[in-house]
Amino acid sequence: MQVFKRIPVTLVRGKGTKVWDDEGKEYLDFVAGLAVVSLGHCHPVLVKALSKQAKTLTQTSNIYYTIPQLQLCELLVKTSCLDRAFISNSGTEAVEGAIKLARRYGKVKLDGAYEIITVTNSFHGRTLAATAATAQLSFQEPFTPLPSGFINAAFNDIEAIKAATTKLTCAVMLEPIQGEGGVNVPDADYLKEVRAWCDEKGLLLILDEIQTGIGRTGTMYAYEQYGVEPDIMTVAKGMGSGIPIGAFLAKEQACVFKPGEHGSTYGGNPLMCAASFAVLEYIVKKDIPAHAARMGQYLCDGLNKLAQKYNVITEVRGKGLLLAMKFQEDIAESVGMACLERGLLVNRVKPDALRFMPPLTVSQKEIDKALAILDSVLKERQ
Ligand SMILES: *Cc1c(COP(=O)(O)O)cnc(C)c1O
Repeated sequence: MQVFKRIPVTLVRGKGTKVWDDEGKEYLDFVAGLAVVSLGHCHPVLVKALSKQAKTLTQTSNIYYTIPQLQLCELLVKTSCLDRAFISNSGTEAVEGAIKLARRYGKVKLDGAYEIITVTNSFHGRTLAATAATAQLSFQEPFTPLPSGFINAAFNDIEAIKAATTKLTCAVMLEPIQGEGGVNVPDADYLKEVRAWCDEKGLLLILDEIQTGIGRTGTMYAYEQYGVEPDIMTVAKGMGSGIPIGAFLAKEQACVFKPGEHGSTYGGNPLMCAASFAVLEYIVKKDIPAHAARMGQYLCDGLNKLAQKYNVITEVRGKGLLLAMKFQEDIAESVGMACLERGLLVNRVKPDALRFMPPLTVSQKEIDKALAILDSVLKERQ
C-alpha cells in the first residue's frame, strides 16, 4: 500500500546484532526491528522455544487454558507491579485493550467518566482509538473524525494535565520516555506528579511501556526509575524479541472486565506465548536489563564525546539503550544514509534526530564499531 517510506535495502538474514542484505552486505543493526529484537536476531533461546512449540501446539482459542499462556502471564505479573495480564498480538492492540479497560473502569467506578488525557508528541499506535490517543497532528489529521474522548495536553507539564482534567476524565496515558516522538525524557519528578494527581482525583494512570519496557531503558520497566507504579501498563516490542506479541497488565482493583467484554482469537496463542516466555525468562535470568544499563551508558558516553567533537550535534538524550542524537539542522536522513553505506543501521526518528536502539545484548565492541562509523560519517560532512 506504499505507506512506508522504505530504505532501498532488502534484508535476508540476521544473527545477534548483525543483519545481511540480499547482496551479502553486513550491517550492525542499531534499529533492531524498531526496539523489538531485544536478544538480537534469531537468539537460540527464541528459536528453540518457537520450534519446540510449533511441533507441540500452536493455537487453541482462549476458550481453553494453555500452559505457555499461563507461564507467560505468571512471569509478567511476577516481574512487574501489576496483578493480571491480557496477551495481544501487537502493541497497538495492547493500547486498545488498555483504553477499553480504562473506559470500563470509568463506567463502573467513576460515574461514567470516559475521557483519557494523553500528551503531545506521544505515540500509542495505529488503530483509530490509538491514533486519537497519539497527540501528533500529522498522525491524526488524515483520519478525522477520530473517536472522541481523548484530550491531548502538553508533554512534561503537570499543570496541563491538571487543566485538562474534568469530571469526565477516567485516565491519563503516557509513555515514561517518548519513543517515536523523538526519545523525549521528561523531568525527573514529572511522573511522580502525574501519579499524585491521578491519586488525588481517582484517575487511572496508564503507562505505555511498549518501547521502554522489558529492559530497554536499563531496568525491567522504566517506571521503576521514576518511583511510580501504573494502574495499567502496556508492553510489546521487546517482550517477543522479534515475534508479534503484546500485553496489557493491570492492578487488581482496575480489573473490571467481565467475561465477554474483551477478547482475541490469536492473542495469547501457545506459539507466541512459549516464545515470549522463553525470551522473558532469559532476560530475567541473565539480568539483561543491567547489561542494557551498562551498554546504554557506554553508548551514551560515546555519543556525548562525538557531540563535543562536532558542533552540529546539539543534544544526546534518552535512557539505557533508547537514545537519540539531535542535530542543529535536518540532516538525520543523510547522516543515517551515510551510516547505512558504511554498514550501520540507525533510525531517523525526526528530521533532526537519529535514534539508537540496538539489541539489549549488544557488546562494547559492537558499540565501538558503530561509534567509529558515525564518527567517520560526521567527519566527512565537515
Ligand atoms: C511501537 C509502539 C506502539 C505500537 O505498537 P505496534 O506493535 O506497532 O502496534 C504503541 N506505543 C508505543 C509507545 C510504541 O513505541
